[in-house]
Amino acid sequence: MTDRERDRDRDHTGDRDRDRDRDHTPDRDRDRDQDHTPDRDRDRDQDHTPDQDRDRDRDRDRDSDHTPDGDRDREAEGPSHGSHLDERMESGGVPPEDAFGVLGNRIRMAILRTLWESPERAVPYAELERRTPVSTDNFNYHLEKLVGQFVRRSDDGYTLRYAGEHVVRAVVTGVFTEDPSLEPVVIDSRCPYCGSPVELRYADERLTARCTSCGGVIDDEEYPQGTYMSYGFPPSGLAGRTPEELLEAAHVFYDSKVTPMMDGVCPECAARVDHAISTCEDHAPGDDGLCGACDTRFAVWTEYTCERCEYARRVPPWFRLLNEPAVISFYHEHGDFEQTVPFKKLTWENAPFVRSISQSVASTDPLEILVEFPLGDAALAVTIDADLEILAVERSDGR
Ligand SMILES: [Zn+2]
Ligand SMILES: [Zn+2]
Ligand SMILES: [Zn+2]
Repeated sequence: MTDRERDRDRDHTGDRDRDRDRDHTPDRDRDRDQDHTPDRDRDRDQDHTPDQDRDRDRDRDRDSDHTPDGDRDREAEGPSHGSHLDERMESGGVPPEDAFGVLGNRIRMAILRTLWESPERAVPYAELERRTPVSTDNFNYHLEKLVGQFVRRSDDGYTLRYAGEHVVRAVVTGVFTEDPSLEPVVIDSRCPYCGSPVELRYADERLTARCTSCGGVIDDEEYPQGTYMSYGFPPSGLAGRTPEELLEAAHVFYDSKVTPMMDGVCPECAARVDHAISTCEDHAPGDDGLCGACDTRFAVWTEYTCERCEYARRVPPWFRLLNEPAVISFYHEHGDFEQTVPFKKLTWENAPFVRSISQSVASTDPLEILVEFPLGDAALAVTIDADLEILAVERSDGR
C-alpha cells in the first residue's frame, strides 16, 4: 500500500473538492464548483447529456480569451461519438512557465483568494477591487494578468477558473506554505497482519503507518521497517485530528485516490491511467511476512500510472477485487461484515477479512492470477487476467 517515490513530488495537486465541498447540495455546487457536476448542469441546462455538456463547455470557452475561431465551424458538424477527444480539442493554453510566472505576485494571489472567498458566482470589478485586501495603483494590470488562465471575465464580473481554484486550494490546504510533521508515535491501533501496535509518522507531506513488529508490506530503504501504508497526504489533513483519527482519515483518503485509478481515471488530473502487473516468481514469505525475493508481502502487484501527470500508485490486484460484488457478497454472507464500498483495506478492523488474502500466478501466458479470499471455513477463489477482469469465480462454503 505504498506509492512510488516520484509521487512524493507529484502528490501536491490534489482533489480538494472534498475539502471545500463537505456536501453536494445544488446551492453549494452552483456557488462554488468550477467543474461540471451534474447538479450544476441541472441548474444551467435542465439536461444532463454529455453532448450538451460539451456544447456548453464550448460556449463557455468561446467567451474566454483562448478559443480559436474555428470552434464555431466545428460545432456545426455535431458531436462525434467514439472518437478520441484529442482530435476535437484545442489546447489553447499558455506555457506552464508563463502560467506560474503570473502567480509570483502578492497582489495577484490576493485577488485569487478574494474571488475564492466571495460568496457570489461572479464579482464585479469595483467590488473585487474593494474587497481585495492589498492596495495598489495597478489593480487592473494585475487582474488582467490573471484573466484567461486563472480568472474568467464575463458581463457579470470575475470568476475563478478551474486552475485559479486549484491554486487557491493548494495554498489553503497548506501544500505550499505549511510543513507540519508528526514525530513517530505509537497509536491505539494494531497491525492488520500480526496485531502488534502501529506507529504513525508524518514528514515531508508523507504519512506513513508501520507495524512495530512484523515486516508490514514492503521492505525498502525508502520506507521505515514494517511500513504497510505510506503516501503523500495534504498538511491540512492533520488539523483537528488525534493520531488515531489521522490514521482513519488516511485510509479513507487513500481509497479516494486509488479507487478512480483502478477504474482508469487519474484522481489528480482526470487523465487516463495505465496499469502494469508485476509478479514474483519465487515468492516465499518469511517469518516477518515478507518475501526475500521481492521484499514485499504480495506476490503480485499492479502499478497504476497516469499517462499525463505520472501520478502513480502501486497496490496488490486484490484491492480492486474488494469492490466486486462477488467478493463483497461473499464477505457479507460469511462474516460479520458491515462495510460500505470501498472499504478500508489494511486496518485492524478489517484484519479478519484482508489478512489471509493470497495471490498466485495461475498462468503466465496468458497471464492469469488466482486470488483467494479465505474466511472461516469458507473460501472464495477469483481468477483475473492481465486487465484485471474476472475470468472465474469459485466459492467453497465448507458446509
Ligand atoms: Zn505486523
Ligand atoms: Zn516475492
Ligand atoms: Zn494525472
